[in-house]
Amino acid sequence: MISFAGVSKCYGDLQVLDGLDLDVAEGEMVTIIGPSGSGKTTVLRMLMTLERVDRGVIYVDGNPLTHMAKGGELVPAARRHLRRERANIGMCFQHFNLFPHMTALENCTEGPIHVLGLSRDEAIARAEELLTMVGMIDKRDEYPARLSGGQKQRVAIARALAMRPKVMLFDEVTSALDPEVTGEVTQVIRQLVSKHNLTMLMVTHQMGFARDISDRICFFENGRIEEQGPPEELLANPQSERTKQFLSAVN
Ligand code: ATP
Repeated sequence: MISFAGVSKCYGDLQVLDGLDLDVAEGEMVTIIGPSGSGKTTVLRMLMTLERVDRGVIYVDGNPLTHMAKGGELVPAARRHLRRERANIGMCFQHFNLFPHMTALENCTEGPIHVLGLSRDEAIARAEELLTMVGMIDKRDEYPARLSGGQKQRVAIARALAMRPKVMLFDEVTSALDPEVTGEVTQVIRQLVSKHNLTMLMVTHQMGFARDISDRICFFENGRIEEQGPPEELLANPQSERTKQFLSAVN
C-alpha cells in the first residue's frame, strides 16, 4: 500500500533520508522508532506531500505520489490530483490540531462537506457513527477547549477517519497523554484499524505503545532502516549494536 523506493531528502546540507526503502502492506501496522532527528517525522510529512522528494519515488496504492513542485507552484490539474491523493491519507499529530472554534461534531463534518462534497446530513451521519465508535458521541457538541487530552485525541482520530482514508499516519499521538489514557487511545486505534482495514504508519517514542500496536517496528538511524521486525523480536532481541544501544537508553 505504501512504498518508499530509494527515497532521499536533504534540508540544505543536512541529509535527512538516505535512499530509504520501506514497504507497508495493506492492513499492516508499522511503527518507526529511533533517535531524535533520524528522519521519522519527515517520512510522514513526505507521505502527506508536505515535503518534496529529492531522489527516489513514493508509491501509495500503486500510484507514484505527486509532490509539491519546487517553490510550491502547481498547475491546477496537478493541484486537483494532489488533493485527491491527500484525501487517501489521514494524519493525527501529537497536539490534536482540532479546529478550536468548532464542536467535536463540526470538526468531523468539515472535511467531508467541504473537501469530499458530502451533504450536511450524510456528513453528520458519518461523524456520529465515528464519534460513537471512539466513545465520544456524548461530547459531540463540546468545543475542544472543554475536552481532555485523550478525548481530543479520540475526536482527532474520528475526524481523520471521516475522510475515509486508506492510510492513517500517527505522529506521537500518545506522547502528551498519561499511561491510562494512552491505553484507551491504543484500543480505539486497534478497533478502528481492524474494522476499516486501514494501513497504518506511526512514529512514537513510547516503546510500550509501539509494542502493543504494531505488526512490525522499524528502527531508524540516519534516515535509513537500521533494523526491523515484529515487536517481540525487535524489542526483546535486537540484532544490531545500534538498536541495542538505543533500546537500552530508552528503557
Ligand atoms: P524527533 O524524534 O525529534 O521528532 P525525527 O526523527 O522525527 O525527530 P525529523 O523531524 O524527521 O526527525 O527531522 C530530521 C532532521 O531534519 C532534524 O535534524 C531536523 O532538525 C531537520 N528538519 C526537519 N524539518 C526541517 C525543515 N523544514 N527545515 C530544515 N531542517 C529540518
